[in-house]
Amino acid sequence: MSETIKTDIVIIGAGPVGLFAVFELGLLDIKAHLIDILDKVGGQCAELYPEKPIYDIPGIPYITGHGLTEALMEQIKPFKPAFHLGEMVTTVEKIGQPAFRVSTDAGKTFECKTVVIAAGGGSFQPKRPPIQGIEPYEDKSVFYAVRKMENFRGKRLVIVGGGDSALDWTLNLQPLAQRLTLVHRRDEFRGAPDSVNKMRALVASGDMDLKIGQVSALEGGDGALVAATVKGNDGALTRIECDAMLPFFGLTMKLGPVANWGIKMEDELIPVDTAAFESNIPGLFAIGDINSYPGKLKLILSGFHEAALMAQKAYHYVYPDKKLVFQYTTSSTSLQKKLGVA
Ligand SMILES: Cc1cc2nc3c(=O)[nH]c(=O)nc-3n(C[C@H](O)[C@H](O)[C@H](O)COP(=O)(O)OP(=O)(O)OC[C@H]3O[C@@H](n4cnc5c(N)ncnc54)[C@H](O)[C@@H]3O)c2cc1C
Repeated sequence: MSETIKTDIVIIGAGPVGLFAVFELGLLDIKAHLIDILDKVGGQCAELYPEKPIYDIPGIPYITGHGLTEALMEQIKPFKPAFHLGEMVTTVEKIGQPAFRVSTDAGKTFECKTVVIAAGGGSFQPKRPPIQGIEPYEDKSVFYAVRKMENFRGKRLVIVGGGDSALDWTLNLQPLAQRLTLVHRRDEFRGAPDSVNKMRALVASGDMDLKIGQVSALEGGDGALVAATVKGNDGALTRIECDAMLPFFGLTMKLGPVANWGIKMEDELIPVDTAAFESNIPGLFAIGDINSYPGKLKLILSGFHEAALMAQKAYHYVYPDKKLVFQYTTSSTSLQKKLGVA
């Protein structure tokens, strides 16, 4: 178990709303750690529509999901937030008045004065491929994410999928693997053309294998994979001996562990007041798509507004003895100093 990280506030979810919360909190001298199950920031904007234009961000007539994420990262840079990506928050416990302990599936523990849940539509989780009997192998020899490349050194790997994740991990793991086979249901790939070309070059030089078809059965015992059978589009079966399989079938949004944290929920959303966007547990806030209140609109701009009001209330939990003076960034030298512009 790693050492406990002590901080003012933990933000669960690094989507656009979680990112903007860092800005509003930073102006009030509140230091944030952000945790997201994705290996990148930006939430839905980054994962679901990075290249789609958004037309309703105030003052910005047009920006893509990726562009907005980049702009938010630039805006929060002065506050040096700490990111813990590729980690799912599994538990949030109340340990004081208010104080919380937050734990992740990567074994990290945080202790903080307040928690902001900016978990959107829930955690992005990998889609399970339709292979009978795959469950006992999961997290033992079937993996939906690569946490440490070294774990795969010298192994016989089967990677399944035709998108960017499957191709990127094929190219990254091929030099480490004893032998790597990429399995895809057709000989066309959705991933970046450059990655497809590099993968085809490795196949042509005999440095890896490409098998067209679908994994139809797994062989092994006690969670240890021995072989995967691939059924070709002509019905022919091929047995591929392997130590690990990595299916990349995309991600789906599931509410996930949020439901088990003892917070009052309605229809998988956290009801909040509209003065501070606080849940029924004092010191535990919910902003962005995860909350509900009369008139709620699941828009990025609503989440930004919620982040600003949340920060005002959070200040009193972090600095109970201090008075908060409202200031504008245009005219306050103290805020401008925090932003590094004065
Ligand atoms: C196709 C599409 C187009 C859209 N277009 C627009 C538009 O034009 N304008 C607009 O305003 N809105 C638009 N939206 C909606 C907008 O994307 C959402 O309102 C916004 O992303 C909500 O931000 P968020 O930060 O609350 O949540 P999200 O973006 O959902 O981010 C939440 C993050 O929390 C993480 N998370 C959840 N649970 C956990 C956990 N237990 N541990 C760790 N991490 C966790 C998730 O992995 C995720 O990354 C669109 C949505 C879609 C799908």
